[in-house]
Amino acid sequence: MTPPPSPAVEGGAAAAAAGHGGRERHVLLFPLPYQGHINPMLRLAGVLRARGFAVTVFHTHFNAPDAARHPEHRFVAVPDGMSGARPPPVSVGDVVKHIRALNAACEAAFRDRLAAVLAEYSRDAVACLVADAHLLRMVEVARRLAVPTLVLRTGSAACFASFLAYPLLCDKGYLPVQESSQLDMPVSELPPYRVRDLMHIGRDGHELMCELLARAVAAVKLSSGLILNTFDALEAPELAKLRRDLAVPVFDIGPLHRFSPAADGSLLHQDRSCLAWLDAQAAESVLYVSFGSLASMGARELVETAWGIAGSGVPFLWVVRPGLVRSRRAAPDEPTRLLLPEGFEAATRRRGVVVAWAPQEEVLRHRAVGGFWTHSGWNSTTESLAEGVPMLCRPSFGDQMGNARYVEHVWKAGFEVGGELERGAVEAAIRRLMAESDGGEMRARARDLKKAAAECTGKAGSSETAIVKMVTHMLSL
Ligand code: UDP
Repeated sequence: MTPPPSPAVEGGAAAAAAGHGGRERHVLLFPLPYQGHINPMLRLAGVLRARGFAVTVFHTHFNAPDAARHPEHRFVAVPDGMSGARPPPVSVGDVVKHIRALNAACEAAFRDRLAAVLAEYSRDAVACLVADAHLLRMVEVARRLAVPTLVLRTGSAACFASFLAYPLLCDKGYLPVQESSQLDMPVSELPPYRVRDLMHIGRDGHELMCELLARAVAAVKLSSGLILNTFDALEAPELAKLRRDLAVPVFDIGPLHRFSPAADGSLLHQDRSCLAWLDAQAAESVLYVSFGSLASMGARELVETAWGIAGSGVPFLWVVRPGLVRSRRAAPDEPTRLLLPEGFEAATRRRGVVVAWAPQEEVLRHRAVGGFWTHSGWNSTTESLAEGVPMLCRPSFGDQMGNARYVEHVWKAGFEVGGELERGAVEAAIRRLMAESDGGEMRARARDLKKAAAECTGKAGSSETAIVKMVTHMLSL
């Protein structure tokens, strides 16, 4: 159960991490068990390991990461008491309820596992716990056992600022949304957000959403620091605002995948055969299409998407994961082509590839990829910007609308396709993104951000500097 020795140690603070009285210092991590939360937490694990910490990852049985792919870390299972009993969440309301249920279900078991780990490592050897912002109960447990905590919030700084402002926005009447005309109202306290860009799930789910966000804010305020997977060149004003509004330090250490690219936390098998197909395509010619791990679409939307892609004439790589289509509960091993409309395969033969799950980081880095049709999850957004790939945004829930808003109106590296999906509009949007004119400008902006991301994560860059500060902070707690 002892973690393997740490790899080469980087930086001054790192030397201290490995050299605490001749013993390693430990950092304990607890990700929220969703793909978009596991990936950044495992990337953070890689960053901490490279800086000399021994890393222990607590995880639920639900969506457990594959420990065998990470022999450099120790994994400790925390029974969640609900595996097998419940199907994976499909709507945003389900996700919110699931997060609440996981917190309650894991609390006692986590306390026991944490106490055992503390007894084994010795209390002094443990620097801190880093928990996902949505795991307030775990932050409270750690505090009761005198373990310092930091919180990783896996969304943007702007999004967390909206969490902080949520009670005020409710008081001012922006939320809950009472009628659709309200959706386009600008939120003057948080430009460029409109009401539709805020996290919301309608009147019925309003209380649940308020509770979810208030608990994330409480977790951060109880902790000794907030870690964000963003970078200064992307969100300097938003980060400055958070630093004014929060009493705890904020560490903007992203994009994390640039520090820890091999941290494979994929819950689904990544079909790498698409990389060989990309090798045979012309530079920047391919549209990559993926809606992440949770977003879903109706059967009609899938058909319109498929025929829009086919009609655009653009080469494509499309991720159609099991569960993408709402009305179809596909078995995980069901061939994806069975989900697509009849005739689609023949119409797009040799021009496109459909896979159930892709090695997304490598796909976005591939020279053949010239555009990304995305659901605007925060990881997908930062992975795309870090590779200079412009985006067609089709947000559906959570922080995705806010991310799409920033992509279009602040970073100008893409645009949103809203409303009902219809094949003609899909075709036109794809052509616009991939074309020289409009698409070229967005590509140029995305390339600027790629350069900025490389600078931030390079030697003495803002994210690299924030990591050094974070490590020093962890060792001082
Ligand atoms: N991802 C992947 N293969 C795919 C699609 C997505 O590995 O075919 C990864 C992607 O690189 C990202 C994560 O899954 O790190 C999705 O996170 P995001 O925040 O974009 O969206 P979510 O799934 O949380 O909605």
